[in-house]
Amino acid sequence: MDCLFCAIIAGEIPSRQVYADDAAVAFLDISPWHAGHTLVVPRRHVADALSQPEALSEIAPAINATARLLTERLEAAGMNILINSGAVSGQEVFHLHAHLIPRYADHPGMAALMERDSDIDLDAVHQRIIAQA
Ligand code: AMP
Ligand code: ZN
Repeated sequence: MDCLFCAIIAGEIPSRQVYADDAAVAFLDISPWHAGHTLVVPRRHVADALSQPEALSEIAPAINATARLLTERLEAAGMNILINSGAVSGQEVFHLHAHLIPRYADHPGMAALMERDSDIDLDAVHQRIIAQA
């Protein structure tokens, strides 16, 4: 099977990982909408959020832990947690993933969600998240 996120989980394609547990892995989105935009994916291949009844609950602990980590390390003021399911919804990678999008007070509201901040240094953001306290 040719799956981008399975290849990332297997380490065949590099990613900026921020969190992992037995069920899920979280890594920075390569094209972030806001600083710290992260994807949480199940370790096993699940095509989308609706194709298997247990899939969402399997990744829920990792979503929670990663959202807390991002909020703390990046001093986010809020967070959008978004799952696209099916091509018509905008899903482009068919391995279930939750988008965790930290939000900051200078760009509030739903209308600003997809206003991509072009100035994001992914490596610098990654370092801030994974730095040892
Ligand atoms: P979706 O449209 O919900 O399927 O989202 C797919 C997401 O995967 C997009 O936000 C892409 O920027 C992201 N993406 C694509 N390739 C990579 C990659 N190699 N590493 C990290 N994120 C990626
Ligand atoms: Zn996969």
